[in-house]
Amino acid sequence: MAGEPSGRRERTATSEERLRAAEADLRTADERFRLLVEGARDLISYRFRLVPERRFEHVSNGVESVLGVSAQSFLDDPTMWDKLIHPEDRAKAGGALDPSAPVVMRWRRADGEYVYLQHRRMPVHDADGNLIAVEGVAHDVTDAVLAREELEASERRFRSLVLNVSDLIIVVDQRGELQYASPSLERILGWAGEDQNQGLDGSRVHADDLPRLRAAFANAKPPGAATATTTARIMHKDGSWRWLEFSVTDLLDDPTVGGYVVVARDVTERKDAEDQLVHQALHDALTGLPNRALFLDRLGLAISRLERRSGLAAVFFLDLDYFKVVNDSLGHSAGDQVLVTVADRLARCLRDGDTAARLGGDEFAVLCDDLVDEGEALQIAERLGSALAAEPVAVAGRELVVTASIGVAIANHATQRPESLLRDADAAMYRAKERGRARCELFDAAMRARAIARLETEAALREALDHKQLSLAYQPEVVLADGRLVGAEGLLRWRSGRGPEGSPLEFIAVAEETGLILPIGAWVVREACRHLARWRELAPDRAPTSVSVNLSGRQLSRSDLPDLVTEALTETGLEPQSLCLEVTESVLMDDVETAVAALKVLKAVGVDIAVDDFGTGYSSLAHLRRFPVDILKIDHSFIAGLGRNPEDAAIVRAVLALAKTLDLAVVAEGVERPDQLDQLRALGCERAQGRLFSPPLAEPAFAELLVGG
Ligand code: C2E
Ligand code: MG
Ligand code: MG
Repeated sequence: MAGEPSGRRERTATSEERLRAAEADLRTADERFRLLVEGARDLISYRFRLVPERRFEHVSNGVESVLGVSAQSFLDDPTMWDKLIHPEDRAKAGGALDPSAPVVMRWRRADGEYVYLQHRRMPVHDADGNLIAVEGVAHDVTDAVLAREELEASERRFRSLVLNVSDLIIVVDQRGELQYASPSLERILGWAGEDQNQGLDGSRVHADDLPRLRAAFANAKPPGAATATTTARIMHKDGSWRWLEFSVTDLLDDPTVGGYVVVARDVTERKDAEDQLVHQALHDALTGLPNRALFLDRLGLAISRLERRSGLAAVFFLDLDYFKVVNDSLGHSAGDQVLVTVADRLARCLRDGDTAARLGGDEFAVLCDDLVDEGEALQIAERLGSALAAEPVAVAGRELVVTASIGVAIANHATQRPESLLRDADAAMYRAKERGRARCELFDAAMRARAIARLETEAALREALDHKQLSLAYQPEVVLADGRLVGAEGLLRWRSGRGPEGSPLEFIAVAEETGLILPIGAWVVREACRHLARWRELAPDRAPTSVSVNLSGRQLSRSDLPDLVTEALTETGLEPQSLCLEVTESVLMDDVETAVAALKVLKAVGVDIAVDDFGTGYSSLAHLRRFPVDILKIDHSFIAGLGRNPEDAAIVRAVLALAKTLDLAVVAEGVERPDQLDQLRALGCERAQGRLFSPPLAEPAFAELLVGG
């Protein structure tokens, strides 16, 4: 510029001035830029010379604050570049020089840490177009890079979580369209590819569960709020239903999602297990029929339907005849087989909507709805009876004909209670048993009256126990050889003040049914012990050696009986042999195993055991051997015929022989006439009781007999 001709300068004075001004402007801009760059602490501008030699021509001061290395040290050492760039990033330095394509490289700071520098570079060419230098600007982007890396890592983590988690995750937008489904959709429900998009309209949701699932969406809460879970059945591709537990989160307002996030898991197995538990709770394990609880529930529904509909519902109470014999003689598995067959036959002769249930043991119940009249109910009862008896049941190599006694109760108004209807049917069944079994009886007014009377008896009996209206009468037991009094049997008496005393058998039956026999029986044991102790004090020489009391079946099966007996003995200071417990043969035969076990425990206490009413209970020698008993009491029905009926004499003779074999004592019951006494003596019977010697006496009279006699 300095060597230009002056003429021209003159001519172009104004343009030169302009040029100068422009240059000055440019310089100012350049300077401003330089200042800016120099001043920018996180910005480095540099120029790297390639020819004629590789060296930094310029490095801005920003390098000092970014890398902790002075700008001068770059100018001094052209290899600074190689020293500070991360070895792995060195290759990038050789890349294209395009300012629009920034390159990020790691540089080592003076403290050894690496920072990410983003470079925008530009080639500098000479007039011939040769690359002679690189001009660049770099700035520290470490924070941004690290933040992005962290974001990517968390996204990767999240994605792998969603992909691998066993739960199903789907995102549904506001219009109900599927935005995303995790791969577990295919694993859980079999749906893949295009198939996935179908079914969001609810067509794959079980109709019963759809409203619930819809509600879950409607009530979905944004994240953070506690989300309730809902279960619903969803159709698997194979057509089966799978139970899924859903939690729905409302992310409609979240711009990155804009929909519902649904997390679902397969809980089919858990549901199945739950259903099974419910089923078990409501069904009989052996036959699979509904149990009593479910039957009463269905009966309750049937009764409440009567309110809206005409017609009747009928309850049939079935009790198998002689089932105990099957169980005892052929074994429990044969018994079970019979029960299963019965259940099957009952279920088969019912219409849809009817219910057959097993109430327990050999008791079944059937509920039929929508009947026209009682006649129809009785027809059904006949049909049930013949369905059971029509064909013999083959068990344990035998053909058994199974019959049932059936009681029918009719529900005809909506105020009846299920329990009382079932009880009515039960009462009618008892009537069927009484009238010879294998038949049916309809519950009627008379039965209801009797049932009510029983309820009244129960209430009165409860009161009698509390108000000491019960007492024991004692009947002496004598030695036939010399008429000596050796024992006394305590017999329960109830002075109810409601007229003449009935047979204890009547109220004892009610006491047994209601369980009242337990406190009453306990009282009897204590009372008898107390009285014997008293007699011994009154008449030491003439008091009986022992006192007998009667036990009911219900008492015998109670595990607290031995303690109760021991306590009564200790309280009264009696030795165990002073007490004899009588159990009827039929109670013993009712449940042989329980009886054997219970008697063994009682025997260990040391008391005597008598088999009462012997001869009426069909026990065999084999059974008798197993019962740890001391005395057989021959039932009065056999004694009644002595001297008149040779058959009875034969039976008594047989019992005496049997007792001898088993080394048991024998007592004849109900001896009323001298000819019976003679015959008993002739047969060699040693002990007896009966009106011939003395009727049962109230305790004061009995005590008087001892003192005065
Ligand atoms: P059981 O144990 O066989 O008692 C003998 C029954 O024969 C008594 O009837 C007695 O009064 C009656 N009797 C006495 N002498 C004669 C006679 O010469 N001829 C006839 N035919 N019978 C006579 P009761 O007192 O009516 O008792 C009936 C049944 O009630 C008893 O039969 C016993 O099984 C039961 N019982 C009585 N007291 C109790 C008790 O405290 N607990 C339990 N569980 N049952 C009892
Ligand atoms: Mg007795
Ligand atoms: Mg008896």
